[in-house]
Amino acid sequence: MAKKVAKKKTAPKSKKYVYFFGEGKADGRADMKNLLGGKGANLAEMVNLGIPVPPGFTITTEVCTEYYDNNRRYPSALKGQVEKALARVEKIMGKNFGDTNDPLLFSVRSGARSSMPGMMETVLNVGLTTKTIPGLIKKTNNPRFVYDAYRRLMMMYSDVVMEKAAGIEPKSDHDAVRHKLESEIERVKKKNGYKNDIDLTTDDLKALCKKFKTIIKNTLGEEFPDDHMKQLWGGIGAVFQSWMGKRAVSYRKIEGIPEHWGTAVNVQTMVFGNTGDTSATGVAFTRNPATGENIFFGEWLPNAQGEDVVAGIRTPNPVNEIGKTDDTRHLPSLESNMPSLYKQLHAIERKLERHYTDMQDIEFTIEDGRLWMLQTRVGKRNGQAAIRMAVEMAKEKLINTNTALMRVRPEQIDELLHPSVDPVAEKKAKQLAKGLPAGPGGAMGQVVFTADDAEAWAKQGRKVILVRNETSPEDVHGMHAAQAILTAKGGMTSHAALVARGWGKCCIVGCSELEINVKKKTIDVNGHTLKEGDWVTLNGTAGRVYEGKMPLMPADPENNKWYKELMKWADKVREIGVRTNADTPNDSTTARTFGAEGIGLCRTEHMFFDAARIKAVREMILSDTEEGRRNAIAKLLPYQRDDFKGIFKAMAGLPVTIRLLDPPLHEFLPHTEKDIKELARDMKVSLKKLKARNEALHEFNPMLGHRGCRLGITYPEIYEMQARAIMEAACELKKAKVKVIPEIMIPLVGHVNELKKLRELVVSVADEVQKKHKVKVPYTVGTMIELPRAAVTADEIATQADFYSFGTNDLTQTTFGLSRDDAGRFLPYYVEHGILADDPFITIDQSGIGALVKMAVEKGRKTKKDLKMGICGEHGGDPASVEFCYNVGLNYVSCSPFRVPIARLAGAQATLKKKAKKRK
Ligand code: ADP
Ligand code: MG
Ligand code: MG
Repeated sequence: MAKKVAKKKTAPKSKKYVYFFGEGKADGRADMKNLLGGKGANLAEMVNLGIPVPPGFTITTEVCTEYYDNNRRYPSALKGQVEKALARVEKIMGKNFGDTNDPLLFSVRSGARSSMPGMMETVLNVGLTTKTIPGLIKKTNNPRFVYDAYRRLMMMYSDVVMEKAAGIEPKSDHDAVRHKLESEIERVKKKNGYKNDIDLTTDDLKALCKKFKTIIKNTLGEEFPDDHMKQLWGGIGAVFQSWMGKRAVSYRKIEGIPEHWGTAVNVQTMVFGNTGDTSATGVAFTRNPATGENIFFGEWLPNAQGEDVVAGIRTPNPVNEIGKTDDTRHLPSLESNMPSLYKQLHAIERKLERHYTDMQDIEFTIEDGRLWMLQTRVGKRNGQAAIRMAVEMAKEKLINTNTALMRVRPEQIDELLHPSVDPVAEKKAKQLAKGLPAGPGGAMGQVVFTADDAEAWAKQGRKVILVRNETSPEDVHGMHAAQAILTAKGGMTSHAALVARGWGKCCIVGCSELEINVKKKTIDVNGHTLKEGDWVTLNGTAGRVYEGKMPLMPADPENNKWYKELMKWADKVREIGVRTNADTPNDSTTARTFGAEGIGLCRTEHMFFDAARIKAVREMILSDTEEGRRNAIAKLLPYQRDDFKGIFKAMAGLPVTIRLLDPPLHEFLPHTEKDIKELARDMKVSLKKLKARNEALHEFNPMLGHRGCRLGITYPEIYEMQARAIMEAACELKKAKVKVIPEIMIPLVGHVNELKKLRELVVSVADEVQKKHKVKVPYTVGTMIELPRAAVTADEIATQADFYSFGTNDLTQTTFGLSRDDAGRFLPYYVEHGILADDPFITIDQSGIGALVKMAVEKGRKTKKDLKMGICGEHGGDPASVEFCYNVGLNYVSCSPFRVPIARLAGAQATLKKKAKKRK
C-alpha cells in the first residue's frame, strides 16, 4: 500500500528554506518570526522599510527542525537554495564570495524566535582565507585591518564552530581555545608594552594569525579551515548544533521556550566599523532601558567591530550628548563626532519605534562614512522601565491603554517592590568601587567567582553575588542563581547587563577598578582584597559597590506616578477582585496601600504564638476537662477581640474573611523540659500528667490529623470563643460607626454535616452577642474548599455555606496525596526532569487541582446561584493562576500583601486576554 502511494507521488516542489533580503527587497516580513527567527524577520522588515541593511539571506527554523528530525542531515534542497541566494547577494555587491581579488565576506548569525543567550555567537569575517587575504589587502590598502579581521575570524570560529558546536568540553576555562588565543594577544601586548588592541601593529597581527593556527591545531586537533565554503557551512552547522547545546537547553528550560521552535541562521554581507576613523559601530535603544525615559540612548566605538561594544572589551562612548553622565562627560559622542550620521541614525531609530510601536534595541555599523543597520528588536527592559514606557507610550498615543497593560509582565511589578540599599546607611558607608548601573535595586550577598559556584552556593541557601570580568552565555545558570551580578568590564549593553535587565536583577557592569583573579578567587580593589565568601552590597541603581552587609530598604511604589497610572488603568479593566492574606493590622494596612479590596484569609492561629498568649493556648490544649479549657479560653478572648478590632479598623468598609483555628494542636505544644515544667506549675497539675497528655496529642500524620473543623467539632468551646471575639469586635466597632463586614470561615470541611454543625454554633453565638450589644452586624459563614471530598460534594456543602474559599495549598497536597513539607525530596526532581511542567505549589495544576476547582464552582453555584467564591492559597498571587481563577468564574483572588499589585495587573490582563479571544 504504502509503496504504491510513494510511487505515485511526483517529486514535490521543494519547500522554501532560504529567504533573501537586500537592496530594498526582502522575501520575509516582521511577522514571520516563527520561520525566520527574530533577527531574520526584522532584518527583512527593515529592508522593506527602506532602511540600509547589508544584503544577505535567512535559512529558516524549519531547516533546524528537519535537521534534528533527520539524524542531523540537511534537507536536500537546501544547498541549491543557498547557492542561489549567494549569487544574488554577489550580484548586488558586485563582488564574489571566495574571490581572490575582491572577496565578499559574510557574518553567520544565529536567530531564534526570541533572543536567547546560550545560542551560538556570531561569526564575523567568514570567507577570509590565504587565497582571499592578498586580494583584500590590495583592495583596501589596509593590511592591518585585514589581519585584524582574520584573527577575529579565527578566534570566533575556533571557539564557537570548532570547539563549542563540536561538543568539545575544555577541562577548565584555561584550556578553552578562546582563552588560549586571548592569552596570546595579551602576551604580545605585554611584551611590547601596549595598552589596547589598537596598538597592535600589522606585523604583530600577522604573526598572531600564524600563531593562532598552531594553537588551534594543537588545542582542537584540527586545522583552521582555509576554504571559504567550508567556513560558511561550518558556521551554519554550528548555529544548528548550538540549538541543542547545554547552555541553550538550560536557558530554554528557565524561560519555558519549547525545543521544537528551532533557530534560524542569517548569512549577511560584512560591513566594517574598523576600517579607520570614519568607521564606527554601536548599540542603542530608542528609550532608556533602565529608567524608561523617552530619550535615545546608546553606546558606540570609533574604529571597532560590533562585537567590541557587546563584549565590553573597550568601554564605549555615549551615542549622544543628552545621554552623558558624570562618568561619561569627557567621552566623545557620535552626535558631536559624526553629526550627520548621528542625525540619520536618530531618524531611523524614530522610524523604527513608530513602526514597531515599542522600544527597539538596535545595532549599527558605520563603514567609511556610510551607515548600516544590523539589527532591530524589541528591547529588553526592567520593570521600572517597562511600566514607565508603557504609560508614556499610551499617553503619546503610540499605543492604547489596553496594549500598555499587556506590555508589562505582572512579575515586573515585583521589581518596583524590590528593596534598595538604605540611603542613610549608604551615605555613611565608604564606597569600594563604582561601575555602570545596569540593573537597579539593592542586593547583598557573598562573593563567588564562577557561575557553577554561584549555583552550588545558592542551592545551599546562601545569597551570592556573582563577580566576573565579563559574563557570557555559559554563565547564565549562575547569573540566575545569584542575588546580583557584578562585572569588571562591559557597558550598559553588555551581556551581563542585558540578561540581568531581562530578569529584573540588580547588576553593576564595567566596574573597572576591580582586579579579579579567578584562579586565586580574589578581588583586588583600591587597596582592599576580597576573597570568596566575603560579603558585598550593591546599589544597582547608582552602580556603587560596598564591602560588607548593608540594610536594604523596601521599595516605594506609591511615589511612582507611572506605576500608579498603570494600576488605575488595570483596576478599570479588571473584573476579578483582589484581596490579601493578612493576620495583623499592620499587614492589612500595607495591603490596602497596595490596593487590596478586602482580606481573603486572616489566620487566627498566628495570633496565638505571641509570648503572652501561648501559655493560655497551651493551657487550653492540655486541659482534659471542658472547664479547664474554658478557663484558658476566657484568657484568650480579650486578645483575640482586640486583634480583630485592629484588623477590622484597618480594613474598614471592606470584607474580612477570618478562618477559625486550623492547624493541628501539637504545633502549639511546649517542647522543652523547662516550658513543660513551667506550664505544669501554672496549671497546677503534676508534671507526669502533663507529659502524658502532651504525648497523647502526638499524631502520626498531623497534616491529615486532628485539625481544622475537626477541632471545632470535638472542642466546640474553641470555635465558640473565636466566633464570640469576632462578633464582639464587630459590634463594638459598629457602635463606634466603623463599617465592618465579617466573614467567618470554617477550615478543612470534608462533609456537609461538619459545616452544618459548626454553622449552627457560630450563628447561635453571633445572635447572642448581637442581642447583648443591641446592634446588628451583617456577617456570613462560609467554608474553605481544600479537600477533594469537599470539591466533589460542593453542591451539598453549599446548602450550609454563604461563600467558598479555595484553599489551594491544602487542596494540592490532598489531591496529589503529597505533603508539601516533605515534597522537597522529589518535587524539584520532578520539575527538573519534566515529569511535572511546574511546581504545583507555585502555579495551579490546572488539569488536576484546577478541574476540581472548576467542578466545585459549578456544583456550588447549582445550589446557590450567587455563591461568592475566592481563592486564598499561595496561587492567588501567581499570574497564570489568577487568569485561571478569573476564567472559572471566581469572584476574587487573595494573596500576600506584596503580591497584590501583581494580582491586580494579572487580573486586568486576564480580562483583556479573554476579550481578545472572544473577538477571534
Ligand atoms: P547577537 O544575537 O548576540 O546580538 P549578532 O548576530 O547581532 O549577535 O552579532 C553580534 C555583533 O556582530 C553585532 O553587534 C553586529 O554588530 C556584528 N555583526 C553581525 N553581522 C555583521 C555584519 N554583517 N557586518 C558587520 N557586523 C556584523
Ligand atoms: Mg545582535
Ligand atoms: Mg488549609
